[in-house]
Amino acid sequence: MPIIAANSIAIRFIDETVTDYNFRADLSIFICANSNRANNFRPVFSLTMLGSGSAGNSALLATNHCKVLVDGGLSARQLALRLEHCGVTPEQLDGVLLTHEHGDHVFGLEVLCRKFDVPIYCNRLTAETLRCTGLLGQIRNWRIFETGSEFSICDIAVQTFPVPHDAVDPLGFVFHAGSGSLGFITDLGYVTKLIVERLRHVQTLVIETNHDEKLLQNDTHRPWPVKQRIQSRHGHLSNSAAAGVIEELLPGRIDRVVLGHLSRDCNTPTLALETVRASLAKCGKLDMEIHCATQFEITPQFRIGETEPGPFQPTFENAFFQNAR
Ligand SMILES: [Zn+2]
Ligand SMILES: [Zn+2]
Repeated sequence: MPIIAANSIAIRFIDETVTDYNFRADLSIFICANSNRANNFRPVFSLTMLGSGSAGNSALLATNHCKVLVDGGLSARQLALRLEHCGVTPEQLDGVLLTHEHGDHVFGLEVLCRKFDVPIYCNRLTAETLRCTGLLGQIRNWRIFETGSEFSICDIAVQTFPVPHDAVDPLGFVFHAGSGSLGFITDLGYVTKLIVERLRHVQTLVIETNHDEKLLQNDTHRPWPVKQRIQSRHGHLSNSAAAGVIEELLPGRIDRVVLGHLSRDCNTPTLALETVRASLAKCGKLDMEIHCATQFEITPQFRIGETEPGPFQPTFENAFFQNAR
C-alpha cells in the first residue's frame, strides 16, 4: 500500500443520494501536489476515516503488516470502494473491530465479512445481539474478547474500555503501534474517569462531536423523547462536551484531534470545529491539529506514528479469543 502523507490526498464522494445506510456515489478525486516524498517509504501506523456521521461510520487503521477496520457502518459497496481508494482490498483486512451493535456501525459487515471471510472482533454481548437480531446472523468468523481486555491484532495493540451509551456493551479503544498511540471514542453520553485515564497519553484522538446543543433543542423533526435520549448520559457527546474532554487531556501528549459522528441535522463541521478551537484557544493551546471527519469524504491518511521496519513476528496467535466458528 502506498504511504501517503497526511494532507496529501482528499477524496470526496459526491452526488450521493442520502438515505441512511444506502449510498450511491460518483467519485471525484482531488490529489494535492504537496505529498511529502520523504515519508513515502517509511513504515507508519496510520488512520483514515472512511466515513463518519449518523448515517454510517468506519475507520481504517493500517501498518505495513496489518489492516483493521473500526466499525463498518457504510454499505459493503462503499466500504470496498473507499478501501480501494486507500490502496487496500477487503481481502487484505485482518479484522473489523466493533464499538457496538448499532446499525450505523455494522451495516455493511454482513456482506463484506461473509464474502471475504474477514474476522469480526467484539465482546460477547455485542456478538450475541448481532447474531440474535439477524443483523450479522450469517457471520461465522467471530473473535470474542472481554470488555476491558488488551490484545494484539498483528502489530497493533488494542486496549478496550467500556463507554456509557444505549447499547448492550459499548466500547472505546486505545491503539498502539510503534511510536504511535490513538484514542477512539464515538457514541457515548459522557466521559467517565476511567475513559479519561485510558486516553491520558494518546497523541491522536478520534472523538464524537455529535450535535450542537442549540440546534438539537430547536430541531423540529425530532420528538422530545429522541432529543432526551441523545442528550442523556447514554446518548451522544455534544460539541461542547467533546471540547471539555479534549481540555481534560491537554496535560498529556495529545497533539491531534479528529472530530466525527456528526448529526446530519443538528450539527455542521464548521460549528464542531469552531467550538473545539474556541475551547482550545481559551486554554492557550493554539498548536493542536484539528480535523473533522464527514459522511461523504475520506479523510487524509493521518500518520499516527512510525513502526519498525522489517518482518513482523507475531507474538501470539489469538491466545484468548474463543472463535465462535
Ligand atoms: Zn453511532
Ligand atoms: Zn450508537
